[in-house]
Amino acid sequence: MTFRARHLLGIEPLHPTEITELLDTAQRYAELNRHGRAPRDVLAGLTQINMFFENSTRTQASFEIAGKRLGADVMNMAMQASSLKKGETLIDTALTLNAMRPDLLVVRHPNSGAVDLLAQKVNCAVLNAGDGRHEHPTQALLDALTIRRAKGRLHRLSIAICGDIAHSRVARSNIMLLGKMENRIRLIAPPTLMPSGVAEFGVEVFDDMEEGLKDVDVVMMLRLQKERMDGGFIPSEREYFHRYGLDAAKLAHAKPDAIVMHPGPMNRGVEIDGTIADDINRSVIQEQVEMGVAVRMAAMDLLARNMRAARDQTGVMA
Ligand code: ASP
Repeated sequence: MTFRARHLLGIEPLHPTEITELLDTAQRYAELNRHGRAPRDVLAGLTQINMFFENSTRTQASFEIAGKRLGADVMNMAMQASSLKKGETLIDTALTLNAMRPDLLVVRHPNSGAVDLLAQKVNCAVLNAGDGRHEHPTQALLDALTIRRAKGRLHRLSIAICGDIAHSRVARSNIMLLGKMENRIRLIAPPTLMPSGVAEFGVEVFDDMEEGLKDVDVVMMLRLQKERMDGGFIPSEREYFHRYGLDAAKLAHAKPDAIVMHPGPMNRGVEIDGTIADDINRSVIQEQVEMGVAVRMAAMDLLARNMRAARDQTGVMA
């Protein structure tokens, strides 16, 4: 099954072969990027608009770099300064932008489902850059590519996802992707930060780091999503670090060659010890950022191909 979708809204609808196609394309871009040879004509003549209704450093920058490297005209909408502040609804903003005929719309929104809704109202390809606690598909893809490069495969690995799982779209997209690729997933979190019904995803659940990290190949840490917490979910950050923060003693329970990941932004000393995050023998956090650009190039390349094919079919000039 090849990737024929119009939008990239989540991992949920993707077939494993579509995931592999996205990752193989991204792998080629990762190599081209390292040699400074990205083809500038792939998105030439196309307009990409980035609409971020929620703060972002890595994701927005890497979508922008990805678009520019492939020759798109990229525009960043300053959403804080836009008409939203004046009371315009999300849909009205989308329709206004749609009338400007963009080809690729990259959207981040604090509400789960907002990006799907927007995709139904516009004619261009929509990429979800994170919606509420729902999905963050390019993050899961870049994590998968980083794992595949470090471990040489993306199946039958034991992967621990640790921390604030309840509020994390990164965890949700990763659980789906890594599950579809037949890995063994362990979720480690205090009971207050573990979503109900996780067992349905076919994962193992732990509330103790040492037990949960035993012999895993990959340790994926998550940020405490304070902006999505309504009240106190942890006794204190100090206590949280003591029980759930990744330090050398806890990491010693994982396999000796286990890799450490974090999607960023990191709270050093809260969910991860700074020395572990910076340890180039264990941490692949910088590689995750590098793969982020390659994955976003791949996603926009494949969506643009699908869009051109659809336009050709309907006789509309691309
Ligand atoms: N950058 C990721 C996200 O947008 C992770 C995080 O913010 O903690 O979801």
